[in-house]
Amino acid sequence: MKGNITFTILKPDAVKNQNIGNILADINAGGFRIVGMKYTRLRREEAEAFYGIHRERPFFKDLVDFMTSGPIVVAVLEKENAVEEFRTLIGNTDPQKADEGTIRAKYAKSIDANAVHGSDSDENARLESSFFFAQSELFTEEGGVQISYPQQV
Ligand code: UDP
Repeated sequence: MKGNITFTILKPDAVKNQNIGNILADINAGGFRIVGMKYTRLRREEAEAFYGIHRERPFFKDLVDFMTSGPIVVAVLEKENAVEEFRTLIGNTDPQKADEGTIRAKYAKSIDANAVHGSDSDENARLESSFFFAQSELFTEEGGVQISYPQQV
């Protein structure tokens, strides 16, 4: 069964370009509820850990430089089939290839400064949410916390 939670980052370019409000409006218009949200800034070790899967990729250092370059908004979002629905809403990693009307097509400039992150699986949605939020900071529609985190977190 598909999960109903995903995790997003409004990246430093989105914050710098004053697109927090526009992007949150698109997220709500897309039928997502905000379950948790923070304005924060990644330290280098945090960005390296968050993107650890890309450690060997040629763009890793630039990605970490960029993700630590300024404040970000992190949020946990709720909607049926959230991971897939959110990736459709944000569009292709490369904004030049993103469908018209998607968040990256509207607010991103390049593949590296692409405005938003969206989890790519239910498991990563839980892991990434737990990276930034305690269970007590997450509020589902009923007010209760329903995200079951992996044991080791
Ligand atoms: N990225 C990059 N250059 C690339 C590919 C990816 O800078 O050639 C960055 C980009 O910010 C992207 C992130 O690495 O959002 C993670 O890459 P992934 O392939 O997981 O894309 P996403 O899931 O974010 O669409």
